[in-house]
Parts: sequence; structure tokens; C-alpha cells
Amino acid sequence: MVKILVTDPLHEEAIKILKEIGDVEVATNLSKEELLKKIEDADVLVVRSGTKVDKEVIEHAKKLKIIGRAGVGVDNIDLDAATKKGIIVVNAPDSSSISVAELTMGLMLAAARNIPQANNSVKRGEWDRKRFKGIELYGKTLGVVGLGRIGQQVVKRAKAFGMDIIAYDPYVSKDFAKSLGVELLDDLNELCERADIITLHVPLTPKTKHMIGEEQIKRMKSNCIIINCARGGLIDEKALYEALKNKKIKAAALDVFEEEPPKNSPLLELDNVICTPHQGASTEEAQKAAGTIVAEQIKKILRGELAENIVNMPSLPMEKLGKIKPYMVLAELLGKIAMQVLDGSVKKVEITYYGDLAKENTDLINRSLLKGLLSPILLAGVNLVNAPILAKNRGIEVVESKSTDKKYGNAIKIIAESDNKKFSLVGSIINNKPTILEIEGYEVNFIPEGIILIIRHIDKPGMIGKVGSILGEYGINIAEMQVGRKEPGGDSVMLIKLDHPVSEEILKKIKSLDNIKDAVLVKS
Ligand code: NAD
Repeated sequence: MVKILVTDPLHEEAIKILKEIGDVEVATNLSKEELLKKIEDADVLVVRSGTKVDKEVIEHAKKLKIIGRAGVGVDNIDLDAATKKGIIVVNAPDSSSISVAELTMGLMLAAARNIPQANNSVKRGEWDRKRFKGIELYGKTLGVVGLGRIGQQVVKRAKAFGMDIIAYDPYVSKDFAKSLGVELLDDLNELCERADIITLHVPLTPKTKHMIGEEQIKRMKSNCIIINCARGGLIDEKALYEALKNKKIKAAALDVFEEEPPKNSPLLELDNVICTPHQGASTEEAQKAAGTIVAEQIKKILRGELAENIVNMPSLPMEKLGKIKPYMVLAELLGKIAMQVLDGSVKKVEITYYGDLAKENTDLINRSLLKGLLSPILLAGVNLVNAPILAKNRGIEVVESKSTDKKYGNAIKIIAESDNKKFSLVGSIINNKPTILEIEGYEVNFIPEGIILIIRHIDKPGMIGKVGSILGEYGINIAEMQVGRKEPGGDSVMLIKLDHPVSEEILKKIKSLDNIKDAVLVKS
């Protein structure tokens, strides 16, 4: 009998499904020691966000085959450790989108009509209609930052209120936004200037941290309302506090905070701030969906079927993949790099297979490419099963071709295209390692690992030294470097492997050097 250990509170319907598959033990609030003991003989572990499934927990598991995360994010699970041990991680990425979108609309109305303040006032025995005079949502411009699962649900609901919708999401195409009836902007600052209400629906990444800061708030209308039901840290809370205190903007409605619970946050003292305790997904329906979806996925996997929400690779019968497996890893890497370099709305990706690879069934390699392409911008929900659907939903066109050209042997070429840029890479497997053989048409031989700085420049004496000096000045060590060029003195590309990431400030300094055309930092 399969032993299923549940270590966070789970909806009863989910427990019912799990009981159909195996022996279920629900043990919540475990200490680390207790968890390490219990995990030893479990076949399946089901958690929500409360249990930290770190490397140590995974190492203690002797029989574990599946970790089910009843919810969206998998940041409490060490994915690498699980994947290395062949443990499948499965989640329920779409379980809470509607709940979060509805909370967003609730907060929008609450802030527009001062509902919480009015409620408190009436309960204090007051009757002051004038003080709580609000605004209608009808005819107002809503600025949606992030057009993913939740952003799209918010758009649908805001349309029903008669709002005009503008959005900022550099990773979707204009055509896709148009199909939602949304005007897509290239610039977050423009959205801040034009919107009456701004709502955030992006993940927290180094790029999105403090994306709403002093500069953006300065551009907002004086009656602007800002809503954050995504992640604390997207808004610079200090800058927000100053703006709200000095009535530079009208109000903020926050479900998430930089520190949760927010200890001693001055924001909580302001009357024009509405707060909820990170309860976007706290609905009967979302909790039930998260639990039952994950339980059904576990059931499928145990039956040997392919489940839709698998987050990591061991889901596939790797032993049967044979020689295409390394090319799946390569394609994922190429996709990941291309998306980061383009940093824009990828509309199209062309993939060409060379050598014997052109004779193989390449479906899984195509899927790996899309997974890699989408993974820098989406949450952990993208996998080999849903990558093509997610790409299609975002309007990304995939064109596959096969070539008999034998120049690089078995190789993959990708050309990714955004609204205004193109980027190409050729890669192969050399000595069992994914290797870049061509970047933007320049020949190299580079193993893309860790943090990589890609610099396009004109081949002039001293260029390498100048870049090296800036990095050295900031104590950044260069682990490896290569230059690809077609002819002396012409356009060239530098690939630099770094021991540490570089800040925007360093990148700016490098970009400002003479003869440097562009510099981007990517993570493999
Ligand atoms: P998603 O992955 O479906 O969509 C995220 C969107 O953000 C994507 O369209 C992506 O292209 C876009 N994006 C990424 N980087 C961007 C950038 N720099 N600028 C603009 N857009 C960018 O995610 P989702 O399921 O819609 O979730 C959105 C957010 O909601 C996440 O932060 C998630 O953690 C949060 N969330 C909160 C709760 C809650 O309880 N409040 C519950 C669930 C999810």
C-alpha cells in the first residue's frame, strides 16, 4: 500500500481522493526532527506552503516518489534536490487565479468607495456620507502589470465594470494583449502616468523587485489607487508610505507585504491604506481546488499516466528518451538564454535541427525549448506538458525545420524574435555538455553555466581590458571569457562567465564604454 504523508492542512475532499490511492497520515505542525523521521518511509508527501521541503528532508526520504504542492508556488520545495533524486514534484498552478482576481476587484471597490473606513465609522456611531465620497470604476483606466493567469482574470472582470484597460508585460505580444481587449504598453512609467488604478500581477524576481518605486509613484495621478495582490517587495514600501502620507496618490490596497506579517510598518497607520493578510488564495473554492487538483495529479502519476502539472523533469520515462535527453536540456538552456537576452515580447521562435537529430521525433525538444523560453518569466507552473499551451496562449509562434547541413553535426539552432529584435544561437552536445557553438552568427565554443554576461561590441584593441577593469573594480571575478568575431575590427560578441551577478550600475558602466553596443546578463 502506498504511504501518503500530508504535513499541512488539506481540504477534506482532497484527503478523500488520497485515501482511494493509499494509506494517508495527516500530521501537521511537525518539528523538523519529526518530519525527518516521518519522511523516511513515505512514498508521497503532500504539502501546502507551511512545510519546508529542503535538501535535508529530501535526503532523509528513502522511498519518496512524489511531492504534491497543493497550491501555486513551489518555493518551499528544493526542486533541484528532488529532481536529482528522481522525485516528481507536482502542483496546482491554476487553483487560485479566480480567487485572487476576485480579491483584487474587492480591494479595488473597497479603495474606490472607502468601504472599510466607512464601515469602521458607522460602527463608531458616526454617519458621515460626505467624508467617504468615492469614485466609480466605470470609465476609469485600469493599469494591469503582468498579464498572466491572474492578470487575465482581472482584465475580464474589470471589463464588466466598463473600465478601459492598459497593461505592461514585456513578455506577451501586442497581438495577444489585443485579443484580450487590452492596450499593451512598452513602458511601465507610461502605465503609471495614464492609469487611475494600478494592479500588480507579476512574480517577485530581481527584475520586478521595487518595480514600483519613487520614480514610478512620482508619475502617478494624484487620485491614483494602487493594488498589490501579488507579492510583497514589488512595491518599495518606504516610497509608497511617503506618497500616501503626503497625499501624492489617493490610496493603496495591499494583500502582501515586504515582511509578513508586517511588523511595525508605518503603512498600517495610514487611513488611506487598506490591508488584508495575504488572503488571495484563501477561499473555500481555491483551497478545495488546490487539494483536489494535486490529489488527482498524484493519482495519475501513480497509475503511470502523464500528469499536466508536473513541475520537474523526472516525470518523463527518461530511460526511454535515450539520445534526445541531452538535447532537451540544451534546448531548454537556449530558450532560457534567448528570453533573457530579448527581454521583450517573443512573438516567434524558429528551431532548426541538424545532423541525425533531424531524423528524431523532436516534439520533446520543442517542448523543452518552450519551457526554457517561458521559465524566466512565469512562476514554477511551466512544464513540458503545458509549455506549448502556455506559449500558444501568449501568442508565441513556433516554426520547426530540419536541415541536412552537417557543419556542426547534431545541433540545434534557434532564432527568437520579439516585436523589434531577433536573437540566434546554435548549440550542440560536446563532451556530454550543452555547448553554444554560435551566437548571433559568431562562432564560439562556450558552455553556458551559471551567470553569463553577453556583450556586443566592435572589435577594437583594449575592449576586453576595459570590461575586465570595470568588473575588477567591483570585485567581480571572471571565470571564463570568449570572443566571437567574423573579421578583425568588425562586430563581435564577448561571452563572460562570472562568479557573481553584476548590478544594473555595473551594466550601465559597461554599456557606456565606447564601441560597446549592448550588454546583458543572463542566468543559465
Ligand atoms: P503567471 O506566471 O501566470 O503570470 C505572471 C505574469 O507576469 C506573466 O504574464 C509574465 O509575463 C509577467 N511578468 C514577468 N516579469 C515581468 C516584468 N518584469 N514586468 C511585467 N510583467 C512581468 O502568475 P500568476 O499566477 O498570474 O500570479 C501572479 C502573482 O500573483 C504572482 O506574484 C503570485 O505569486 C501571486 N499570487 C498571490 C496570491 C495571494 O494570495 N495574494 C495567490 C496566488 C498568486
